[in-house]
Amino acid sequence: MKPATPESVQALADRGEMDAARAAARAALPVLDGVERGQMLLVLSAVDALAGDATESLRAAAAARECFQMVATADGDAAATAAARDGECDALTRLATALRLVGDHATAIATLEQAEVLARESGQPLRVAQVLRNIGICCSLVGRHHHAMSCLDEAEALLRVHGSPADRAGARLSSINVRNRLSDSLPAGSAERRDTLQATLPEWQALAETTAADVQRRVHVMARGNLAITLAELGRHAEAIAELRTLEPAYRALGMRPNEGLCVSKLGRSHLALGDVAAARDGFLRAVALLEEAGSLDDLQEALEGLSEAEEACGDPAAALAALRRVREIERRKSDAAARAAVVQRELRIELARLTSQWARHATQDPLTGLANRRALELWMDGQLPRAEQGVPLTVLLMDLDHFKWVNDTFGHATGDEVLRRVARLVERSCREADLAVRYGGEEFVLALAGVEFEAAIAVAERLRSAIAAEAWGVVAAGLKVSVSIGVAGAVEAPAATALFSLADRRLYAAKFAGRDRVVAAG
Ligand code: GH3
Ligand code: MG
Ligand code: MG
Repeated sequence: MKPATPESVQALADRGEMDAARAAARAALPVLDGVERGQMLLVLSAVDALAGDATESLRAAAAARECFQMVATADGDAAATAAARDGECDALTRLATALRLVGDHATAIATLEQAEVLARESGQPLRVAQVLRNIGICCSLVGRHHHAMSCLDEAEALLRVHGSPADRAGARLSSINVRNRLSDSLPAGSAERRDTLQATLPEWQALAETTAADVQRRVHVMARGNLAITLAELGRHAEAIAELRTLEPAYRALGMRPNEGLCVSKLGRSHLALGDVAAARDGFLRAVALLEEAGSLDDLQEALEGLSEAEEACGDPAAALAALRRVREIERRKSDAAARAAVVQRELRIELARLTSQWARHATQDPLTGLANRRALELWMDGQLPRAEQGVPLTVLLMDLDHFKWVNDTFGHATGDEVLRRVARLVERSCREADLAVRYGGEEFVLALAGVEFEAAIAVAERLRSAIAAEAWGVVAAGLKVSVSIGVAGAVEAPAATALFSLADRRLYAAKFAGRDRVVAAG
């Protein structure tokens, strides 16, 4: 028998034959080494992820990364080294996908940021777009909506020029998803939430239509799946049910078991909403069976919770209780998965420390502006949050420069960098001993204020905003103008770091939406 190649494994997976694809890849691995071995491991990791096996996917991606790193650091020719660097970037991206599947979004983002550096160094727009797309997905999952959207916008812009129709469809899917998820942070039942959801309906429809051709079958069914889920969220259950029923066999034919499970679970949910308790129970039972086998623990938990409700509505309290007990067991399994992910994260850190001798400095400082970086912010927050719990005010100002793409496009990247350095100095000027000034990402900054009352923190934000707008930018480049939008949030409103930054981000988004160059500290 001919040994499998990454392409032949991929072809099996595309036909929905996941088990055969995995077996073929595993059988081929012992005879492969170097870049070829890494590439086979990458395909295996992708197939494992599609089939819903996050742990195996994580393992394969980590092994692939190790493989590529060995090639990259060996004294090989330039072409082999470049291929290994590309492979390492892809492996980090895959690793992040697996981490996302086990729910460790923070490590996923940190991993993707390493991939972003490699992708940008390689100068390949497709790789950059791929990484940005993934950063967008993860950031949206942790509530960093504005950053998520800007990553996806950049990815889509790159793919419009350099991507295939399939690449563009994939990025579109993520983009709509991210905007859909923005609705999660809006109050249930609010008109705003309804409008946000409603606005995505035609977009899902359009994506489903442009991907109806066979080659993009996966994106096509996912677009329709999301359309159905959005309909259900809008309370249009009968339409949702009709759509979900046709999707169930479509997912099955493609071997996408986690999606099939989620689809059947949503079917149960809509039946329950319409009062058809027997159909609901049937749906949830099938969903649990599918998701037990493959799928995210969150989805499984949701299906079990639905099952419990349905059993109770069907008049079987014993079965309802049994389902609830399984929910508790899932919670335990989730913390196990997080623990496993933490081990991988430690391994990554140790490897990185080995690779960069300047790691200690880079670990906490942004090289362009000299401000603290996001890691330093995380450490700082770990120290501050317990004090905030005891009543010491803690406020974050999340800033994003307005129309910064225009600055880069009109005046060049070097001017863009100079703007970032000058803004950093202005942020620093507002920063007292107890505070922390941070370059949070590309053109995003954070000023974290400790021991300052919320009203006073808003005044700091306002002063900083006007100082940035009033700076003599004409000295840097004739015609240059710079402004900033700021979202302000306090730990009294959101005591956990993720929730705090998510709230600040939502307000930053509101500031952008309201016309930019302003501070938003409520809503
Ligand atoms: P908005 O007002 O909505 O924020 O518009 P924007 O143009 O600022 O949009 P976005 O946040 O999407 O754009 C950020 C841009 O910042 C894209 C990226 O090329 C640029 N950028 C990120 N990091 C750097 C950097 O280190 N140097 C320079 N010069 N540009 C950067
Ligand atoms: Mg931005
Ligand atoms: Mg911006």
